[in-house]
Amino acid sequence: MKDNKHLRHWLDDFELDHPLVIAGPCSAETEEQLINTAHKLKETDATFLRAGIWKPRSRPGHFEGVGEEGLKWINTAKDETGLLTATEVASPQHVDLAFKYDIDLLWIGARTTVSPFIVQELAEALKGTKKIVLIKNPVNPDLSLWLGAVERFHKFDIQNLGVIHRGFPSYEKTKYRNNPEWQITIDLQNNFPNLPLLLDPSHIAGNRALIFDLCQTALDLNYDGFMIETHLDPDKAWSDASQQITPDTLSKITKKLKVRESDSDVLEYQSLLKTMRSEIELVDHKILEILAKRMKIVDQIGKLKKENNVAILQSKRWNAILSKMIQEGAENNLSEAFILNMFKAIHQESINHQKKIIDN
Ligand code: PEP
Ligand code: MN
Repeated sequence: MKDNKHLRHWLDDFELDHPLVIAGPCSAETEEQLINTAHKLKETDATFLRAGIWKPRSRPGHFEGVGEEGLKWINTAKDETGLLTATEVASPQHVDLAFKYDIDLLWIGARTTVSPFIVQELAEALKGTKKIVLIKNPVNPDLSLWLGAVERFHKFDIQNLGVIHRGFPSYEKTKYRNNPEWQITIDLQNNFPNLPLLLDPSHIAGNRALIFDLCQTALDLNYDGFMIETHLDPDKAWSDASQQITPDTLSKITKKLKVRESDSDVLEYQSLLKTMRSEIELVDHKILEILAKRMKIVDQIGKLKKENNVAILQSKRWNAILSKMIQEGAENNLSEAFILNMFKAIHQESINHQKKIIDN
């Protein structure tokens, strides 16, 4: 989507002096729950009331949403509080019903974005809509699949588009339910700076204690707002109980967050920044020179291995280097994850170099 410029800056319409907040329960459970939640949210920064009506559950046998009835409750909540409304759509039938009840914002869930077939059907059903359509990242960490979905909607003349970062599942257990993989959204912002970007800290965290830190990181990275699961009695929620927070906690979190300016024209800031950026450029240049030097030695070893008919990969040696570097990294305040990623990349490049030499 090269004509990113053609996207409407729908966020500006709200003239907010704080990040956009979409809040509400994971699932609409009862009419009373939704309306009471909306009244509480009215006292927070929330502009939109979210509620899942059709719930995508990983395994059958769990609560799968109240269906069309919930859309009536959402609208009663809107009439009583003035909050705008938001729900997830995962099929053209959902889109028809969301249109019938005039829901203001529709979002595409992570399990939907992953399928270009369903995205295409949804784009056709939503053709030309002026409603806001937000696209969650696909469950797999694939930036082009995510952007491909944005492009499909854009092709069908849906202009009020945005994206929601909800993290990426991994088989390995981490402290997050879904790993944030921030780099993917940094790449996204570099490619499409005008596409509004929201964070869904609830589905990333899976645990309400992590929500504040995730939100602050998002603001530090220039995000435009949040979608946060909010429930009057989180522990009793019918879905995603451990990650939901009360509207009161939501207010406490948004009050504590530091919103960053996207830039500053203070002269002293500009001049210091310029000096430090020049220093960084010099350091980057040195890093490249040192890497090139390392690769020259790697090439010589490649020749030696070829002459002696020895395999490229020497696992013992590689593991020894890695443990030593992780330890040295820790002494220099560099995280294990960073050292692993960096040395894996260096090692891969070294193997590629030696492969060229040995196979010639
Ligand atoms: C949700 O927002 O409740 C939801 C199901 O999200 P996701 O598609 O990110 O899993
Ligand atoms: Mn949920």
